[in-house]
Amino acid sequence: STYVFDFAQGDKDQRDLLGGKGANLAEMVNLGLPVPPGFTITTEACRAYLAEGREPEALSREVSEHLAALEEAMGRRLGDPADPLLVSVRSGAKFSMPGMMETVLNIGLNDESVAGLAAQSEDERFALDSYRRLLQMFGATVLGIEGEVFGDALDDLKRQRGVDQDTELTPDDLRELVSTYQQAIREHAGRDFPQDPREQLDLAVRAVFDSWNTERAVLYRRQEQIPEDLGTAVNIQAMVFGNRGDTSGSGVAFTRDPASGNQGVYGDYLQNAQGEDVVAGIRNTVSLADMGEIDRASHDQLLEIMSTLEQHYRDMCDIEFTVERGKLWMLQTRVGKRTPEAAFRIAVHMADEGLIDLDEAVRRVSGAQLAQLMFPRFDPKARRTLLAKGMNASPGAAVGRAVFDWGTAVEWAERGEDVILVRKETSPDDLHGMVVAKGILTSRGGKTSHAAVVARGMGRTCVCGAEALDVDTKEGRFTVRGGKTVEEGDLISIDGSTGEIFDGAVDVVDSHVVRYFEGDDVDDPLVDAVTRLIERADAVRRLRVRTNADTAEDAARARRFGAQGIGLCRTEHMFLGDRRQLVEDLIVADGEKGQEKALDALLPLQRQDFTEILEAMDGLPVTIRLIDPPLHEFLPDITELSVAMAIADTRGHRKKRERRLLDAVSRLHEQNPMLGLRGVRLGIVIPGLFTMQARAILEAAVARKRAGGDPRPEIMIPLVASVKELDLVRARIDVIAREVAEESGLDLDVKIGTMIELPRAALTAGEIAGSAEFFSFGTNDLTQMTWGFSRDDVEASFFSTYLEQGVFPVSPFESLDTAGVGELVRTAVERGRATRPDLHLGVCGEHGGDPASIHFFDDAGLDYVSCSPFRVPVARLEAGRSAL
Ligand code: ADP
Ligand code: MG
Ligand code: MG
Repeated sequence: STYVFDFAQGDKDQRDLLGGKGANLAEMVNLGLPVPPGFTITTEACRAYLAEGREPEALSREVSEHLAALEEAMGRRLGDPADPLLVSVRSGAKFSMPGMMETVLNIGLNDESVAGLAAQSEDERFALDSYRRLLQMFGATVLGIEGEVFGDALDDLKRQRGVDQDTELTPDDLRELVSTYQQAIREHAGRDFPQDPREQLDLAVRAVFDSWNTERAVLYRRQEQIPEDLGTAVNIQAMVFGNRGDTSGSGVAFTRDPASGNQGVYGDYLQNAQGEDVVAGIRNTVSLADMGEIDRASHDQLLEIMSTLEQHYRDMCDIEFTVERGKLWMLQTRVGKRTPEAAFRIAVHMADEGLIDLDEAVRRVSGAQLAQLMFPRFDPKARRTLLAKGMNASPGAAVGRAVFDWGTAVEWAERGEDVILVRKETSPDDLHGMVVAKGILTSRGGKTSHAAVVARGMGRTCVCGAEALDVDTKEGRFTVRGGKTVEEGDLISIDGSTGEIFDGAVDVVDSHVVRYFEGDDVDDPLVDAVTRLIERADAVRRLRVRTNADTAEDAARARRFGAQGIGLCRTEHMFLGDRRQLVEDLIVADGEKGQEKALDALLPLQRQDFTEILEAMDGLPVTIRLIDPPLHEFLPDITELSVAMAIADTRGHRKKRERRLLDAVSRLHEQNPMLGLRGVRLGIVIPGLFTMQARAILEAAVARKRAGGDPRPEIMIPLVASVKELDLVRARIDVIAREVAEESGLDLDVKIGTMIELPRAALTAGEIAGSAEFFSFGTNDLTQMTWGFSRDDVEASFFSTYLEQGVFPVSPFESLDTAGVGELVRTAVERGRATRPDLHLGVCGEHGGDPASIHFFDDAGLDYVSCSPFRVPVARLEAGRSAL
């Protein structure tokens, strides 16, 4: 096969083979834009190298051929002592990846050709500056020497010469620097800098291949879920020089503002500099407008090219360019990264400009981006001092006092302080502290570290892996490398969406998007963009979106967010607070009489609960789940109760009720309560509980009808494994339904269905569907029961290890495990519908609000997803994207 392609041979759709950079360089060549010529070594060559441990046979010959053609075209030979051709060696994988080797410029310079370059360009300073840059980049990226070795030497020299800018160094200074660098290479790499130009080239190519497997690159791929086996391409390109004096320079630019999405170009330019200087921030850059003052012709040409690129890619592009003595060269372009806000605004602008249609605009944004826009965030206008930046592990904006151990976190939180727990890394021991903290900050570990996984699970803001922080938990302080020290109790602010860490308390503002949904009048172009795209998604989606809501208040809010009903109304919270007493009465009751009395007391309270919820969701379906958790959750703690009893005993007090309670608690105590007496099992063992709830639902419906409403309750039985269980409970509910119908004279038509949350239920769904009018997949339990993971324990204990070692790329509680749990869902859908073609199907686990899972549920043919109120807009958007 062919391992090397000239830029003119490729195009933008060949990112798999040529990498992103190579494919887009090729595209620019095809568009006739001024691109320095060159060629691309394919990802296939890299894969072969990584598999075999050496370059494939044909590679060297193919490189020679393409190099010869390049030399021919340029009229120069690589490293020619009299007039050298110089090239850059640039890595470029399919997805851009920090942590991989980047680029070596000026390959082909050596002790002889540097003189040739000086003579040809009549600029000795420029030639020596280019050489010292080669030594520096080659030393650091190819020979693996700490970059600081070179940076420090440069700083020392500038200090000795009393100059601020590297451009102020004289040729003699640079000559000295070159020899210092060569000495440093000898010392640190144990070899001389290779003088042979072709050897320089080959070593640089190999270093790019090898950089695919650096620790940071591997970690990054795991976090971003980029496949391990893609490999990287390598681009070899004739050099153009931005460091040839003031008529030269380098810059980066965007066709629109990647931060706000505003229309209009945006960029930075640096005179007399080679590319990496721009981002390195060694000198102050100027804006594109100012570049226009410096070099009008190049500026105008650049703007024209940017417009060409945007029209061609039909998307915002980012660009790297260089001007050499008044001639503009394009060095890179790609569809640019952008903030969530910019993503929405650019998509809508482009639809309005006729560049794309509205469906394409919907495809270009994501539910994950929308979720980001719904978190509170730091006031963009607030003053802030950046301390450092880590990884954006779990979104949100958190402000609090720095604390360094979980004990202090708990203590301070109890006295009402907001705290941020700061650790090197967290372990299960820190859990108490993480629960009470507003945010979590660590100096080590990536997005799959313990801190990150647990924080996301709890919805807590988290910044992790802030390597610039030296955290001293013993002394209770952290020091920012080369900067400030923050002591226990000092206020800090962390932004989990950007990874930024700020000194002091930064003002937090509510999301405009949320305020808009809540009915506030907000004037923000972002809100217009978001609503237009969600409305388009609504128009195209098949999947309906319901919400999980247990109170009338939540139901009303979810409705404002666009929910089309309730998919899961839990009833257990209705037994807490004052009503706990009644549940205790029920449990300790002597015989049926006593039980009935307790249930009679609960009935009107429950009826009221349901009436309010049905009113809030009038006209829309409300699926009410009968009581699900183990009963002991409503009873006092066994240890506390035993102690109280023991004390009462020693004092000779008689405590009949407490004694009976203790008996009940001991009787109900279970080793594995999640696998014990709960769900439908309760309905069978204590039938009165379920029938009371069913009656309350039906009577609430009657009340709503009499009040002129349109109640649409559905009764859902949890934790069914066998149709026999469902039949037993259903028979009793049917009796109640007939009774209520007779008493009221109203025809209620309340659907009865079940949750599918046990593997056995999924497998026997064909039988279960005979007795259920709807299924709702409880994917939290279904995941727990399928994997055998105790959800309450595993995330905090070993999931970070599992994620790090690649057992799964993301927690199966966060995103549905389609290969396992998903197969059970598909099986149940198929078997259930075979029995009952009009079986109504939904999902009420937390996966209902997860973008990737929503696409799966749409594909599996469910009728709706149900998620928390705040996730409803996200689900609407993703259901639309899934349909497109
Ligand atoms: P990264 O992926 O880190 O952006 P690049 O390969 O794009 O690395 O190189 C970084 C910068 O080096 C470019 O933006 C450009 O300014 C400069 N550069 C790369 N190749 C050349 C070249 N052939 N001529 C001039 N400058 C170059
Ligand atoms: Mg680049
Ligand atoms: Mg469940």
